[in-house]
Amino acid sequence: SLSKSAADEAALSKSSLSKSSLTESALLDSVPGLLYIGGEWVASESKATLTVSEPATGEVLKHIADASPTDGLRALDAAAASADEWAATAPRMRGEYLRSAFDLLQQRKDQFALLMTLEMGKPLSEAAGEVAYGSEFLRWFSEEAVRISGRYGQNPEGTGQIVVSQRPVGPSYLITPWNFPLAMATRKIAPALAAGCTVVVKPAELTPLTTLFVAKLFEEVGLPAGVLNVITTSRASDVSAPIIADPRLRKLSFTGSTSVGKVLIKQAASNVLRTSMELGGNAPFIVFGDADLDKAVEGALAAKFRNIGQACTAANRFIVHSSVAAEFGHRLTDRVNGFVIGRGTETGVTIGPLINDRAVDKADDLVQDAIARGANLLTGGHRSLRAGSFYEPTVITNVQPESTILREEIFGPVLSIVEFDNEDEAVAMANDTEYGLVSYVFTENLARGQRMIEKLDTGMMGLNVGVISNAAAPFGGVKQSGLGREGGAEGIHEYLSTKYTLIPN
Ligand code: NAD
Repeated sequence: SLSKSAADEAALSKSSLSKSSLTESALLDSVPGLLYIGGEWVASESKATLTVSEPATGEVLKHIADASPTDGLRALDAAAASADEWAATAPRMRGEYLRSAFDLLQQRKDQFALLMTLEMGKPLSEAAGEVAYGSEFLRWFSEEAVRISGRYGQNPEGTGQIVVSQRPVGPSYLITPWNFPLAMATRKIAPALAAGCTVVVKPAELTPLTTLFVAKLFEEVGLPAGVLNVITTSRASDVSAPIIADPRLRKLSFTGSTSVGKVLIKQAASNVLRTSMELGGNAPFIVFGDADLDKAVEGALAAKFRNIGQACTAANRFIVHSSVAAEFGHRLTDRVNGFVIGRGTETGVTIGPLINDRAVDKADDLVQDAIARGANLLTGGHRSLRAGSFYEPTVITNVQPESTILREEIFGPVLSIVEFDNEDEAVAMANDTEYGLVSYVFTENLARGQRMIEKLDTGMMGLNVGVISNAAAPFGGVKQSGLGREGGAEGIHEYLSTKYTLIPN
């Protein structure tokens, strides 16, 4: 069902494009192109603007305000000024704002999906999936706001009462990447607001429109001015450093690459700032000889090609038992050959563009390096002939251990397979990386599956499944994949600090 005849496809895409083009410009007009500071939409004090373009076409979508360091500090002023009042707002009330924003987002779910497809490139059906996932954080944390609690008990000596309570950590700076424009924003904003923290959000320069559209939701549901502030900027480092250095800031939450995360941890050290770091991944996808291959193929397609491979949770290394490697490779190749490449708004498209040409070059370099070192190419292996930042979905097997593709995040539609012969070898290969975000394991042997939970160095694991993200579950990694967790009961604790009081008898 993924492939269509060329004629069908052309007819479909033509009709869906002309039908949607009016909607697209109306939608883009309805997104505020300004900074949201202290409840006001304002231009940058420097009057500078930045241009947001569509990766599928290279065309300009919108010019928006480009914040300066002064604008960044103004946003922090607003967050600091409203911090006490927001912390004192009843938890039920804080939850109600989040719930109202969730409800309004549901009414606008088609607009959010289209906006993400335009600025980021993912197919509309996947953008709709991100709307469902991303909006759920607003609902989940609207419910968690009223469950913040502590404990109370006698000390062991019997001489006093120990009282433990949870307080909002304070003004928080939230930096998000471009690959999941909605979910990465709501995954931070919702727990912060639920906990009683005010925030400054800085979305990625490449995909800032979705976050501005989220700010508009909160404005419309009447969130008090200054609780949520959004700055869009092309000068991430210049604007962020003074905010992070300011003693009024109490928390930094970052999602992005490990290299930038390390820079930010160093900056945060000077004020001993609380940090949460959701960084890169290099996920192993292990297929044992006893796996259900149908499940493994479905899981592999989702874990690899969702978001055009541009996910921190994307399977990066397929570690497959030699008894099933050839069969697995061929079945996958058949399915991949049925993929339809195109602009994400076109009907039937399953593979959109990469975020930019640099990403295309990087994917191609990794593939060529692997082939030069002895890998076999089953399909793809080159950039697409279409205009725009497209790369052909690719499958390579027999990838040799020293290949760069096994060390670095591919962030593209490239599936690379290495073989193993016994369980210990598979575990050693899976753990042979500085990352530890997520691992996927396919086996029908329950005892083996449970052994893998123990043996893999990973923050998350999917057992016979290729997509695991859920607002109710703690998302995060070990090793250089980061610090802290987002989602679940754990997610709100990133924005709370523990206070202990002793009351003598
Ligand atoms: P990136 O690190 O280049 O940028 C992330 C964000 O940081 C952007 O908003 C960017 O403007 C900002 N930034 C860059 N340099 C900065 C600096 N010096 N100071 C302050 N801010 C700075 O990452 P990216 O290319 O946008 O995203 C892809 C990366 O994100 C991948 O490594 C991916 O694995 C990771 N990621 C991780 C998770 C997770 O939850 N672990 C989720 C999604 C993406």
